[in-house]
Amino acid sequence: MHKAVYPGSFDPLTYGHLDIIKRASDIFDELTVLVIRNSAKKSLFTVEERVEMIEKTLKKRGLEHVKVDTYEGLTLDYCAAHDIGVSIRGLRAITDFEYELQIAQTNTVFSKGKLETVFLTTGLKYAYLSSTIVKEIASYHGDVSVCVPRSIEKKLMEKYGYETKQHEE
Ligand code: ADP
Repeated sequence: MHKAVYPGSFDPLTYGHLDIIKRASDIFDELTVLVIRNSAKKSLFTVEERVEMIEKTLKKRGLEHVKVDTYEGLTLDYCAAHDIGVSIRGLRAITDFEYELQIAQTNTVFSKGKLETVFLTTGLKYAYLSSTIVKEIASYHGDVSVCVPRSIEKKLMEKYGYETKQHEE
């Protein structure tokens, strides 16, 4: 059985992440979206809020077979403990490459070759998307409906103290 993990901050989940999740879940027998708890990184949403938003989104899209978990520590340690051999990362532009290559090589060395990194290129529609950009737009009450699901848009507006439009998820 081929098990994979998709680690990240997901602060919050975007359609770019969701695209990677869908595609990775078609390739691997078991996929875990791993929300990394990083106390050094300032986040907008708590880990619990992020997990709730991801689970709700996955359920809504028939992806409830994808697991969601949290971890404070190195992805490679989580993978060793759960017998997972592949870490999925999304590549948007060349600017992602250097950082991602460094993480992939670190994982290879420190897992003694047990953890492989598989890169999925971003869906073209979502190449520009990042959680940071979404937060920037939402903080000025911009329309982020093309970037994140409705329920997450609602949470963003709440965080920034804006009234939300009444609409369905
Ligand atoms: P991190 O803080 O670990 O970079 P992110 O939540 O920002 O966590 O991203 C998790 C993974 O998803 C990374 O591999 C990142 O490159 C990828 N990713 C982020 N946005 C997109 C997108 N729009 N399309 C494809 N992959 C993406």
